Amino acid sequence: MTNIILLGPPGAGKGTQAKILEDGKGLKQLSTGDMLRAEIAAGTEFGAKLKNILESGALVSDEIMIEMISNRIDQDDCKDGFILDGFPRTVPQAKALDDMLADKRKDLTSVIQLVVDENALLARIEKRAAETAGGPRPDDNADALKKRLAVFNEQTAPILPYYEGKGILQKVDGMAPVDEVTGQIAKLLAKS
Ligand code: AMP
Repeated sequence: MTNIILLGPPGAGKGTQAKILEDGKGLKQLSTGDMLRAEIAAGTEFGAKLKNILESGALVSDEIMIEMISNRIDQDDCKDGFILDGFPRTVPQAKALDDMLADKRKDLTSVIQLVVDENALLARIEKRAAETAGGPRPDDNADALKKRLAVFNEQTAPILPYYEGKGILQKVDGMAPVDEVTGQIAKLLAKS
């Protein structure tokens, strides 16, 4: 079983690479952002609360996210492995993930950091906004990106040393063309 975390700031290419891994390796992509957007699209009361949080670029509470991902991992389509795209995003989420995987008798194969130049991210997000079918995400604009990047640096970046300390953090060059990034990830996975 191969269970992977893809880590990196908004626009690093996590979703793109997760989709390629899902199609190529039969691993299930678990994008917490997609799950939250589906909840919002369903028009529930819970979704309405989430909408304001996502639009602001802030994070949804650890408690909600941990429960959401724990339930999702239990589903049958994750039994051969999964790719976490957008989770964990805080140190408490990373620690809760360790505990829940231990409970479920699963473990992490690799934590892959997509290393990118922050100055290139606005252009990538603007490109995604222009290309998204059905219109851009409400948080894919310069203002929200600024906030999301600040949140990444303050709350998510501290999980990098957490995984480094465990000896499972691996880095790829997220500025390389998509195919090359995929190749680098494949090489890492072949070794782990
Ligand atoms: P993403 O599609 O991964 O960029 O996520 C979009 C938004 O969903 C984020 O800016 C957060 O508001 C929320 N979100 C996604 N994943 C998480 C998470 N693991 N913890 C907290 N909030 C999250």
